[in-house]
Amino acid sequence: MKTLIDTIRNEHGHWVGDGFPVRSLFSYHGDTKAVSPFLLFDYAGPWNFEPSEGQPRGVGQHPHRGFETVTIVYDGEVSHRDSTGGGGTIGTGEVQWMTAGAGIIHEEYHSPGYSKTGGPFRMVQLWVNLPAKDKMTPARYQAITRDMIPTATFDGGTARIIAGQFGDTKGPASTFTPVNLWDLRLDADAEVTLPLPEGHTSMIAVLAGHITIGGTGVGEAEIARFSTEGEGVTIKADGNAIVLVLTGEPIDEPVVGHGPFVMNSHDEIRQAFADFDSGRFGAVPA
Ligand code: MN
Repeated sequence: MKTLIDTIRNEHGHWVGDGFPVRSLFSYHGDTKAVSPFLLFDYAGPWNFEPSEGQPRGVGQHPHRGFETVTIVYDGEVSHRDSTGGGGTIGTGEVQWMTAGAGIIHEEYHSPGYSKTGGPFRMVQLWVNLPAKDKMTPARYQAITRDMIPTATFDGGTARIIAGQFGDTKGPASTFTPVNLWDLRLDADAEVTLPLPEGHTSMIAVLAGHITIGGTGVGEAEIARFSTEGEGVTIKADGNAIVLVLTGEPIDEPVVGHGPFVMNSHDEIRQAFADFDSGRFGAVPA
């Protein structure tokens, strides 16, 4: 079995634009080896937005290069547009898997409909690194709708498989390196052994409720991090819980991140700024 290494929490939230009240549970400013291939985990909400008219809340045009952003909407809706000409709305229960690759400019706002009604908002944005050989791949995104995400059931709960594989159930996301991303709902008092793979960086983020792992409690907006060695972990839900399981094969390459760019060297970061400044990322269509 895997062993629990530590738990990660962050009491200090910040706003991304005016739409996303975020707690960053880890980022590339920390120990990047400890979380590879993941780079950043922002937990937005839970928050209750009042209804609003006019320009929806969110964050305006900004670039990314060198990695993927995975946006998982639990409550509320997020609309986006980008420099590939793409755009759409990530509905409740849906996922956008965006490959920034060589470069993208996008904007992320509450959907017009959700802005008008307001209500609960809860979202995760996870950044997944790309191996050096794929950092300059063309930008694209996968819009993963509710009907595309299969549900695996097990004694004590259900798992929506976004990426990777859980038992015989395969997730729809196409990834550059082996990654599992599972949205789990646990019944109260469920005790579950999850098949986390040998050799993968492995984490469980508690988004709602409380779980116990070998006597250690893990509460809302807290991540439990496990050894890469070993296979599987047993967790107990201390009430109904929503947890996000993320595992991935580590990418053993240097990580140099600055703002919205994550590359392998400082030279590549300078190049990213130069390319962005000279308009080589394109533009979001007017
Ligand atoms: Mn972004």
